[in-house]
Amino acid sequence: MRVAVIGAGIVGASAAYHLSRRADTEVILIDKEQDGKATLAGAGIICPWVSHVGNPDWYRLAKEGAKFYPELVRHLEEDGESQTSYKQVGALCVSDRPEELDRIEEAVRAKQPDAPELGEVLRLDAKETRRRFPPLNEELESVYVSGAARIDGRLLRKAMVRAAKKNGARIIEGEASLISDGDKMTGVSVGDEVINADQVIVTAGAWVPELLEPIGVQVNVQPQRGQILHIDVQGEDTSDWPVVLPQSSHYMLAFDDSRVVAGATRETGSGFDYRQTVGGVHEVTGEALRIAPGLSQGTLKEVRIGFRPMGEDSLPLLGKLDEVGQVTVATGLGPSGLMMGPYVGYLAACLATGEEAGMDLSAYHPLRGAAVNG
Ligand SMILES: Cc1cc2nc3c(=O)[nH]c(=O)nc-3n(C[C@H](O)[C@H](O)[C@H](O)COP(=O)(O)OP(=O)(O)OC[C@H]3O[C@@H](n4cnc5c(N)ncnc54)[C@H](O)[C@@H]3O)c2cc1C
Repeated sequence: MRVAVIGAGIVGASAAYHLSRRADTEVILIDKEQDGKATLAGAGIICPWVSHVGNPDWYRLAKEGAKFYPELVRHLEEDGESQTSYKQVGALCVSDRPEELDRIEEAVRAKQPDAPELGEVLRLDAKETRRRFPPLNEELESVYVSGAARIDGRLLRKAMVRAAKKNGARIIEGEASLISDGDKMTGVSVGDEVINADQVIVTAGAWVPELLEPIGVQVNVQPQRGQILHIDVQGEDTSDWPVVLPQSSHYMLAFDDSRVVAGATRETGSGFDYRQTVGGVHEVTGEALRIAPGLSQGTLKEVRIGFRPMGEDSLPLLGKLDEVGQVTVATGLGPSGLMMGPYVGYLAACLATGEEAGMDLSAYHPLRGAAVNG
């Protein structure tokens, strides 16, 4: 079977990698060079158990997505890829209001029996909280969840693409389009080349609607701009610093190279407007310094900008579009795509090949509330 995957963000890279591990599958992964790829800007927090998203179908996928990581890392290591960046550093849910922390602690502990991978749950006083993440405001106490992890989306994406290539996948740089005979998808074109594929997986993030339009499918996915800061805290050993989750959409995490990442704006309605704005940088800096005033002497190294693929609700769009041929769609992962992306890519590969996915995916069908052929 020949499968073409369009879009090599975290979802497409995972789909291609998992397909490349099958002896009977020929894989072609196509990616267009452009600004605003979400995976290259994403923070990389893997911690579904403390999320505010109330939808149980979201939690089901996010929880499995987090659980999927250790196995993925093991497979990549078997394929010679050790630079995955995945590390379980734990997360500090911080607040200066003990009753808020009581509520968080109770909610996480209630999830523990069904999700033992979330690890240990500890209540930490302000001193211990700050010992673990020194720039923090000294008023903040925390609930610590040891199973939380972080990844660098750039490194993990590269590792999966490289491993897919080693396993025989063909990687093409260029803009792909779907070819239609009016009713059904009949192939994929990239530049002058026409690729005949038995199955096509569309993992083009926020650009999925424009790809599906020529085959008469409308899906509701919008780009949501996120601006995120990379701060150099020279001289600090940040390699084990945990993820910091205040009770807002802002957060912090650290990487091995004395780097703290503070995120992020959520600019719904931004369109594909790839710009670093004064308001965006002000918002993220202000929130970061309120939580961690110790970062004020850090060096602002970089502002990354990405377009999160946002669906109408919190759920991804994942499913097969039998109405228009052999097309599987996987997008709409919004702010949770690094957490669930590798698992969703794997599920998309299962859908395309007809392999049992081991999960009921009907809640995520891409055409819930949308239209085919007009
Ligand atoms: C600032 C920020 C912080 C974030 N933090 C987190 C976090 O901490 N945890 C978390 O879980 N998630 C986070 N996310 C969300 C996460 O990054 C995204 O949900 C995820 O990366 C989406 O992956 P994707 O593969 O669907 O899309 P993308 O990464 O955007 O990839 C889509 C790819 O398709 C390609 N493409 C598009 N059109 C075509 C075409 N016609 N032909 C060929 N290729 C095409 C694009 O060039 C791109 O490479 C964050 C996002 C942002 C912006």
